[in-house]
Amino acid sequence: MKVFCKLFGHTWVHKTSNPKIRWSTNAKSLAELDLSAEGESALWLECQRCGAKNENPTREEIKRAC
Ligand SMILES: [Zn+2]
Repeated sequence: MKVFCKLFGHTWVHKTSNPKIRWSTNAKSLAELDLSAEGESALWLECQRCGAKNENPTREEIKRAC
């Protein structure tokens, strides 16, 4: 873990390996996101700075990520 992450926490960004997942461009809430993916682990959060992964993010964690 990098010093920055220790001090300020990880800088999560959305990652996906599944092209079927489309983040609706005008989604106002998670309920409007088009998560019509099949299969598992198609969406995860990854730290932009140290590369740490959160493979099973909660909806709350997804919401907090940029
Ligand atoms: Zn980090």
